[in-house]
Amino acid sequence: MKSTSSPSKSSSARLKRTIWRDALMVFGGFTALLAYFISIEAFEYVVDFSSTHESWELDEILTGMMVLPIAMTIFSVRRLREAYRELSCRIEAEEQAQAMAMHDPLTGLPNRRNITHAIEQAIDQADEAPLALLLIDLNRFKAINDLQGHQVGDALLIGIADRLKAHVGDSAVVSRLGGDEFVILLRDAPQGEALIARAEDISACFDAPFELEHGSVTIGASIGVTYVDSSDVSADAAMSQADAAMYKCKVRKSNCVRFFEAGMEMAAIRRASMEADLRDAIRAERIEPHYQPLVCLEDGRIIGYEVLARWRLDDGELRMPDDFIGIAEDIGLIDDMFYSLLEQAAADVRKWSPELTFAMNLSPVQFGDEWLVERVLKILAGAGIAPGRLEIEITENSLVTDVEMARNVIQQFKSQGIRVALDDFGTGYSSLRHLSELEFDKLKIDRSFVHDVYINESSQTIVRTITSLAHNLGMQVTVEGIDTAENAQSVIGYGCDIGQGYLYGKPAAKAGMDQKGDKSERAA
Ligand code: C2E
Ligand code: CA
Ligand code: CA
Repeated sequence: MKSTSSPSKSSSARLKRTIWRDALMVFGGFTALLAYFISIEAFEYVVDFSSTHESWELDEILTGMMVLPIAMTIFSVRRLREAYRELSCRIEAEEQAQAMAMHDPLTGLPNRRNITHAIEQAIDQADEAPLALLLIDLNRFKAINDLQGHQVGDALLIGIADRLKAHVGDSAVVSRLGGDEFVILLRDAPQGEALIARAEDISACFDAPFELEHGSVTIGASIGVTYVDSSDVSADAAMSQADAAMYKCKVRKSNCVRFFEAGMEMAAIRRASMEADLRDAIRAERIEPHYQPLVCLEDGRIIGYEVLARWRLDDGELRMPDDFIGIAEDIGLIDDMFYSLLEQAAADVRKWSPELTFAMNLSPVQFGDEWLVERVLKILAGAGIAPGRLEIEITENSLVTDVEMARNVIQQFKSQGIRVALDDFGTGYSSLRHLSELEFDKLKIDRSFVHDVYINESSQTIVRTITSLAHNLGMQVTVEGIDTAENAQSVIGYGCDIGQGYLYGKPAAKAGMDQKGDKSERAA
């Protein structure tokens, strides 16, 4: 984008003009004076005067006066050139400062100030030429920055800037607002289906991994879109609309595009206040563990529980993890939440029968916590619980973030006798090589393959194949989401080892001793 008119540039140009004007005035004055002296034959007059006043030594003075203009001219030309050179340097420096003030130094894209000005200009014309704003916020960028370092984070931002710029070409302006937020301004934006197609096309920029010097990185983006066809809207309001639409995506975590609809701003405001509430809730241990039974499919015995986070609100209602785990990850609170839950769970587990295990979900953001394993062991030791009773669940998707980090964490847990399970298997990406190399103890087949397994042949094939693959690699298989007896029968038939689902028990605040006392929290 062209920078908007620069005051420093015009003042420098004015100065240059002044130098030339002065030089021309001096030269002009000199020429005029010369012409005048010639016209009145001044030289002859001086010669006459000199010869009549021989004793005054005027000829020496005149010779000096003849040489002086030559010296002055040389001096002036040199000074002029120097002044000109100095001015050019100053202009260059001013232009650089100007560019820096209007551009993001990392990606070279127009910055917030610059794009806000461009949006204001575009909105002025919006009655004739409507515009669209696409606010792009990267998903889990913090995890990449924390886990792989700022160098990789920076290289990724540059890669994204380049890809977006190449994709939109001259038809739109790409800007970086700061952090992991970008905005695209589409002038003369299409409407309806065409705009949806355009936004999805831009979202597809995030489908392919980014090949960086340090390896390949995959990242998703949440894109909020707003369409402006009236010059009555302010740039701030348009940005807030795109922001509100973007926040709607954030709940889903994956790549997504949402269009602004009335009422969304309220949701964005709610999210901002939710962040503050979440901080308080973690501190006050209002994020509490609920327990869902894990059952041995062979004999129906409960062998342990999965710990699932629940946010207890002031009115006693429970908020589900899908509504706040993503936020806790985004704002760097997931570690605190995990340790708080582990401490509360450990206090419960010590009252359970000693053969019962418990499983905690680990977010990939936590791979970057260098004291993770030590702190977990300390909490277990404090509660007098053997590490062998804890199982850590990491999702298949977290392997995408950084396999090496995952490997390191898994090895550390395993070396302390803590088992590790691969969660949500089948929903993400993991190569067979990861499965054999990462030494998981367990594989949890995602519930999406289970809800219709008793009738759906492809689900049956998937569950059967995954089970036999896992067994061949020495892993146990847990099947999630078993909510009917028919589904249970099917998976038992395929040789799966452990079952979890509403059929055996919903997540409940109490566990470990008296199952009948479970307070179920929601219907299937
Ligand atoms: P997940 O680890 O796959 O947990 C299982 C989810 O499936 C739970 O949802 C559970 O209530 C639900 N579920 C269990 N049985 C059935 C069933 O028969 N039918 C159906 N439809 N659903 C069933 P929940 O508790 O809402 O948790 C959602 C996700 O939130 C979890 O998925 C996990 O990825 C994440 N999560 C929960 N607690 C934590 C936590 O403490 N830390 C982290 N990092 N993630 C957590
Ligand atoms: Ca889990
Ligand atoms: Ca799961």
